[in-house]
Amino acid sequence: MEDCIFCKIIKGQIPSTIVYEDSDIIAFRDVDPQAPVHILVIPKKHISSLIDLKEEDELLIGKIYTVINKIAKKEEINEDGFRVIVNCGENGGQEVKHLHFHILGGKKLGLKICE
Ligand code: AMP
Ligand code: ZN
Repeated sequence: MEDCIFCKIIKGQIPSTIVYEDSDIIAFRDVDPQAPVHILVIPKKHISSLIDLKEEDELLIGKIYTVINKIAKKEEINEDGFRVIVNCGENGGQEVKHLHFHILGGKKLGLKICE
């Protein structure tokens, strides 16, 4: 997608701190971290949001969770715990219209998951 900021990160047109990359998935540090560890995991394929997922993406989404597992161990937040968030659409607070999984950890997160 031409004007998608995350597609530009995938293509290396916008700088980012990449923590993981393979042929299908890339993960990088959030530019405005909400926790000591705040990483975004995204498919390289442009999928606008969770609601646009198709059955053909099932394998890819499963793979994303395996990557999240690996990153959590590498970032050493696996034992203390962490949170994975996907915001979807206007009410879900999704700002970037390229499916992404937030990994948040490194501190005790509040129990409120919405305000
Ligand atoms: P969301 O509200 O779920 O769409 O989250 C979008 C996230 O992308 C926010 O946490 C932003 O801080 C983050 N973000 C936006 N632009 C960049 C960028 N260039 N590099 C890293 N993270 C970004
Ligand atoms: Zn995109």
